[in-house]
Amino acid sequence: SIIRDEIDPIDGASDAQLSAIDGIAKDFDLTVEKLSEIIKHFCNEMDKGLAKSGMTVPMIPSFVTGIPTGNEVGTFLALDLGGTNLRICEINFEGKGVIKVKQQKHKVTEDLKAGPAYQLFDFIAECVDKFLSEFKEFVTVQPEGVHEKLKLGFTFSFPVEQTAINKGTLIKWTKGFTCPDAENKDVVFMLQEAMKRKNVPVIVTALVNDTVGTLLSHSYKDPNTLIGIIYGTGTNGAYFEDIHKIKKLKFSDDSKKMIINIEWGAFDSEKKVLPLTMFDNKLDRESNNPHYQIFEKMISGMYLGEITRNILLHLIDRMLLFNGYSSKDLNRQYSFETEYLSTIEADETQALDDTKKVLEELLNIPSTTLIDRQIVKRACQMVGLRAARLSSASLAAIIIHCEKVKCGSSVGIDGSLFEFYPHFSARIKKALQELFGADADKIKISLARDGSGVGAALAAMLAAQK
Ligand code: BGC
Ligand code: MG
Repeated sequence: SIIRDEIDPIDGASDAQLSAIDGIAKDFDLTVEKLSEIIKHFCNEMDKGLAKSGMTVPMIPSFVTGIPTGNEVGTFLALDLGGTNLRICEINFEGKGVIKVKQQKHKVTEDLKAGPAYQLFDFIAECVDKFLSEFKEFVTVQPEGVHEKLKLGFTFSFPVEQTAINKGTLIKWTKGFTCPDAENKDVVFMLQEAMKRKNVPVIVTALVNDTVGTLLSHSYKDPNTLIGIIYGTGTNGAYFEDIHKIKKLKFSDDSKKMIINIEWGAFDSEKKVLPLTMFDNKLDRESNNPHYQIFEKMISGMYLGEITRNILLHLIDRMLLFNGYSSKDLNRQYSFETEYLSTIEADETQALDDTKKVLEELLNIPSTTLIDRQIVKRACQMVGLRAARLSSASLAAIIIHCEKVKCGSSVGIDGSLFEFYPHFSARIKKALQELFGADADKIKISLARDGSGVGAALAAMLAAQK
C-alpha cells in the first residue's frame, strides 16, 4: 500500500511506458513545499471571503450560533439532499448525548437533477409524505387538537448565500445537478411551497449545509470540535468562527461564534496555485460547470475516476496501454467510477486479479497484461494520493487560521471517500505530519457518519430555542 514514496515497481515495462508514467507522476506529485504554498493562498482567500461577499471562497455565514451541549431533548425531522441520495430522518434527542434516528433513503434520478426545480422539490415533499405515513407514531406524538406543524431541518449540500437560519438562495449547482430555474432562488421557499402543494404538515425552520450539519452533530458528541468536513461526491468544510472576525456580517446578538460554511470546492478557480494537469483541464472543460469548483474537481468522489480515465486514454492513444485498445465503455465520460479506483488501490493480489476484473469485466477492455494492470494501479495511486494531500491542505489552513496548531482540535468527517477509499485518512495524517511535525497528533480526525441529518435537526432545535 502506498502512503507516499513507496511505489511498486512495474516489472518489464518498456522505456516508453516508464518515461510516460514518470512524466505523469511528476505532474501529480505534491511536495510539502507546494502544499505550504497552497495553504498560504488558502488562508488569504479565507480572509478575503470573511471581509467581503461574492469572493471566490465565499465563507458563508450559516447563522448557526449555538453550540449543542448534548443535553438537548426533542423530536425533529431532517431532510438531507446531497450528491447522490435524498434521506428523510426522524431524530429523537433523548439527552445525555443519546440520539435515535429513523430514516429512509431515495435515489435522486438524473432526470430530477436536470429537470425543472418544482419537480425536484415535489419529489422531496412526496418522499416526506411517504415517510410520515409509514412512521405514524411520530405524527400521533403531537398533542391532540393542536395543529402544530412538524419542525424540519433541511440539509442542502450546495452553495447557498444564507441571509438567516431559514433563508438562503442557491448560488450555483454543483455535483452534476443542473435544474435550470433554481439558481438565485430561495431554497426554503421552494421546499415550503412544494410541501404546501402536497399538503405535507411540516415547517422548514432551518437550512444548513452538510458540512455545517456534520460539524454540529460531531460537536454534540465532542465539544472540542472545530471543523466539519465532507469528502464524498463533493467536498467542503465548515468551522466555528469568532463573530467579530466575520467583517462582512452585520449581526448583533450576544453570540460569540458562528459556523462558517467555507465552500472550499470553489478554491482557486482562478487556477493560481493548484497544480492542474492536462487531465484536470480536460475534465473541467468537458464538465457541466467549467471554471467552477476547481479544487473539488481534484479531490472529490465524483471526479477521481474521470481524471484517471483521462490518464488511461492518454496512454492508450500513445499505444502505451492495452496495446492501444480502448472499449466503448471506457470511452464514455464518467464510466470509470471512483469505486473502481478504490478496488484497484486495494488490490494486493499478485496478478492484480481485482484490477483485471474491473478492466475486463466492468469496462470490457478486450485483454490486459500484468504490466497494463500495474500501470493502471499506478495511475489510480497518483490520483488518490494527490486528492488526499490536497485535502490535508484545506484542513491545515483552517487549523492555522484559527491558531490551533499548538493546542489542536477535533475534526468530524463524513463522506464515502473518507469512509471507504483505501489509505485516504492515513495519507491525510501523513501530510499533516509533514506540515506540522509532532503537533499533527493533536488534530483528532474521526468519522462522523450520517452527521448531516442529525445536524440539520440540531440546527432546527437551536433555532427553536432562540
Ligand atoms: C457543495 C457543498 C457541499 C459539498 C459536499 C459541494 O459540491 O458545493 O455545498 O458541502 O459538495 O457535499
Ligand atoms: Mg451527504
